[in-house]
Amino acid sequence: MSINSCPNCNAKEYIKSGVIANRQRYKCKKCNYYFTVNKLGKKIDDYYVNKALQLHLEGLTYREIERILGISHVSIMNWVKKYNVKRPQSTNYHPTYKILNSDELSRYFMNTDNVKGAGVIVTELGDKFMLIKWERFKE
Ligand SMILES: [Zn+2]
Repeated sequence: MSINSCPNCNAKEYIKSGVIANRQRYKCKKCNYYFTVNKLGKKIDDYYVNKALQLHLEGLTYREIERILGISHVSIMNWVKKYNVKRPQSTNYHPTYKILNSDELSRYFMNTDNVKGAGVIVTELGDKFMLIKWERFKE
């Protein structure tokens, strides 16, 4: 994931500055302008298209993906159609997910109970990580 420049002054120096409404926010070091990924170009869009499709394949609903990524469920449905993404039909278990920073993530994995009997994947999300977990044998 890379960003080209500040949408306000085009400077190439900016820093990550928290996550607002599930969007990574950046601060331009030159003009102090705050911007989020929404104002950025196509590269970032592609990044979120990939993330959205990934989550769709992992069994999350459009509304859930909308909540996590801050992308309208309509866009996600359109991407699923556009890229012709199909996922297997019946799954009798549904994933749960958490958004964690790297410290929380390492604490999570230190507790064996969290990963016992479950499948877990971790994917980067802005400056945090998303952990998706399946508990196959629990209803
Ligand atoms: Zn700027």
